[in-house]
Amino acid sequence: MLMESPTTGFDALNLSEPICRAVRGEKYDTPTPIQQKSIPHLIEGRDLLGCAQTGTGKTAAFSLPILQRLSEKRPAPGSKGPRALILTPTRELASQISDSIRVYGKHLSLKQAVVYGGVSPKPQISALRRGVDILIATPGRMIDLYQQRCLRLDQIEIFVLDEADRMLDMGFLPDIKKIYAMTPDNRQSMLFSATLPDDILRLTKQFLNDPVKVSVNPPASTVDRIDQRVLFVDRENKGALLESVLQEDSIHRALVFSRTKHGANRIVKNLGKARIKADSIHGNKSQAARMEALRKFRAGKVRVLVATDIASRGLDVEGITHVINYELPNEAESYVHRVGRTARAGATGVALSFCDAGEKGYLHNIERTINRLVTVIADHPYHSESIASKPKRGSSSGRKTSSGRNYNSAAKPGKNQNRKRYFSAKPGKKTRSRSPRSAVSA
Ligand code: AMP
Repeated sequence: MLMESPTTGFDALNLSEPICRAVRGEKYDTPTPIQQKSIPHLIEGRDLLGCAQTGTGKTAAFSLPILQRLSEKRPAPGSKGPRALILTPTRELASQISDSIRVYGKHLSLKQAVVYGGVSPKPQISALRRGVDILIATPGRMIDLYQQRCLRLDQIEIFVLDEADRMLDMGFLPDIKKIYAMTPDNRQSMLFSATLPDDILRLTKQFLNDPVKVSVNPPASTVDRIDQRVLFVDRENKGALLESVLQEDSIHRALVFSRTKHGANRIVKNLGKARIKADSIHGNKSQAARMEALRKFRAGKVRVLVATDIASRGLDVEGITHVINYELPNEAESYVHRVGRTARAGATGVALSFCDAGEKGYLHNIERTINRLVTVIADHPYHSESIASKPKRGSSSGRKTSSGRNYNSAAKPGKNQNRKRYFSAKPGKKTRSRSPRSAVSA
């Protein structure tokens, strides 16, 4: 018997019935702002510059129109595609996008493939030979396959550059330009980036033709939902502090950030000695090992995942209750990306940062970017009063200290009390001038 399906906000976006049905299946009630602002233009074939990062729903924002456009138009006879190309910086992100497209396109008969390095190219080559409509790729492997003539790009109708700022940070600019030049002139192009520094703006001028510009700003609101705390600790005590913190039952799923790959391995080893199950993902691990670590973490078989910034980029794991910065990042923006791994899809989360004497300046920059002070937890066994009390040049006095050791946001009384503006006069303006890339704080 056919049930009448409830309408969702997605119906108003002129998406086809099979796509709306798939979206309903995912229990998406309303399109996110980036979806609302982008999808109607993308369906019409416009180019787009999207200032948005992971967590905003941007994958669906570009994937749904791609599915719609490709399913409406038959491929040229004999063409094996691909007809849409999505370039993304990391393997994890590529496979996440591929998973999403599989879900959104499950009532359509479009074929997709994902190609990235670190694994055997053979299955990827076979998939390309069979023919694909949508290809999701990291630049290096894609160029290899192109050069080996396993792939043609002359059928590309839609080109997406995802996480463009991170691509440039990772040195992919020459590859991206090469790939773009291989695609036909009349393709529809989209560029997504969390920030819009000058080099990205230059790229948009080259790549995009009269683009619709859409900007969404979830990081600030995401960051607002995260209970952020700092623990002052001497560097040599960080390992012991982590063990102590992880004894808390409220920490169901923790993502721990380390600045280096070796550091990540060391943390996992030390936690192992303390009988705390942990795994790591970083660039020195094989793709299979990274996927396996992620799988176990997602399945709840491993409670603690230790990651470096690049490996964690774009990670979308549900139910991360705590992000722990074992080391503070030297860029405030990385902090925002890291803590955004918790509080996904409307949930709340806790971010704990271990700050040693050398990292106090980083903390200061972070507080300016997020525009508020991070609550200090002093009641822990490794608290360093000398780090806590050392005044930082230009810092505001009267920092609040949490009354008790409590790493669980839900139980913390008056957790918003500390959300005062870091600068009392024109805080937003000052923040932006010190941190020009902080679209995240706007
Ligand atoms: P993204 O920014 O594409 O990585 O998406 C972040 C998360 O939001 C993913 O887990 C998506 O499944 C989810 N999501 C995307 N669009 C919606 C929506 N309209 N309603 C609810 N969740 C969504």
